[in-house]
Amino acid sequence: MSSVSLEAVQKTFGKTTAVNDLNLTIHEGEFFTFLGPSGCGKTTTLRMIAGFYYPTIGTVRFNDKDMTTVPPEKRNTGMVFQNYALFPHMTVFENVAFGLKVRRLPRADIRKRVISVLSKVRLGHYSDRQVSQLSGGQQQRVALARALVVEPEILLLDEPLSNLDARLRDDMRSEILRLQREFGITTIYVTHDQVEALSMSDRIAVFNFGVCQQVATPEEIYNKPANDFVAQFIGETNVMPASLIYKDEHHAVFKLEPAGQKIKVKKTNCHISQDKGHLALSIRPEGVNILKQHCEGDNIFKGKVVFIQFTGALFHTHIKIDKHLIIRATQLNTEANISFNTGDDVWVHLPQENVRVVPKIEVTANA
Ligand code: ATP
Repeated sequence: MSSVSLEAVQKTFGKTTAVNDLNLTIHEGEFFTFLGPSGCGKTTTLRMIAGFYYPTIGTVRFNDKDMTTVPPEKRNTGMVFQNYALFPHMTVFENVAFGLKVRRLPRADIRKRVISVLSKVRLGHYSDRQVSQLSGGQQQRVALARALVVEPEILLLDEPLSNLDARLRDDMRSEILRLQREFGITTIYVTHDQVEALSMSDRIAVFNFGVCQQVATPEEIYNKPANDFVAQFIGETNVMPASLIYKDEHHAVFKLEPAGQKIKVKKTNCHISQDKGHLALSIRPEGVNILKQHCEGDNIFKGKVVFIQFTGALFHTHIKIDKHLIIRATQLNTEANISFNTGDDVWVHLPQENVRVVPKIEVTANA
């Protein structure tokens, strides 16, 4: 297995900078995800690791070996594409065997390896079927088998589940994780689906407009987003532009812009380096409390319920504080929470330990 390092990597297409000054290391055996909106540079980065593109500037290494301009067939990576890229006129066996035939392995070895990998992806009984006769989920398994059968050092998966329905996607997530753990293979997974990224990855790199915004574990990304883009892209959140008006050793007090409400934040949620510049306060909807009666205390604001959505286990409630500020709250479906209605006057409590200060990034398009 290999580690993968990208050092000061940039890729431009004409005037478009698809990936800019990217530095990251993916550890041996890690399940690592590139996450971000459409056009942010995920696939371009994956293709530079596969060798389909060479960086305009920078270095790609597998372990310590410089692979920057090594052609794809000499990299020992296995790739699974969004559209599977199978050969429709061939059987499952022939599709999976293809890469081994190209490598001129003896027939008996090919047979042994194909049968073994098909049983691992639970397609042992399908080897003689034409791939065109398989369901989407089964075709995805064939694509996985075809990537794994060459025993790659690195498995590259480009939005492999986006053509499947929600239920099948769920099943395939567990299946891919099971195989990844079983093979212990360094895996790089591209997706724009945050649930997929959070639930599958050891670590995630969040991209926006060709720039990597944060590299961290799913828990860190969710609980300690590096900036307002990451906070908003991963899960729901309330992001409120703010400026610092006061701080002591335990707390900081911010003024929301433009309406001026004062919000107290625990110092541990507010880094010194974030005192200046463009700032925002972020609080997850599940961290917001809705009160029926006024209570004295910090960070309590009067508002009106403008929207309630019931989703079974949860209520999603929007409360208008003033014309500039609507706070979203998520509450569990319990007896106490059931009694709110649209139009109710309520008080919103933003507990200071749940509010985080994040830098506001200036986003500029890359094209
Ligand atoms: P998606 O989720 O939609 O696949 P992505 O995050 O994978 O998006 P990329 O495909 O890496 O994004 O594209 C990044 C930027 O580079 C986009 O602006 C895209 O238009 C541009 N780009 C990618 N490939 C090429 C190419 N071959 N020629 C010109 N521009 C390209």
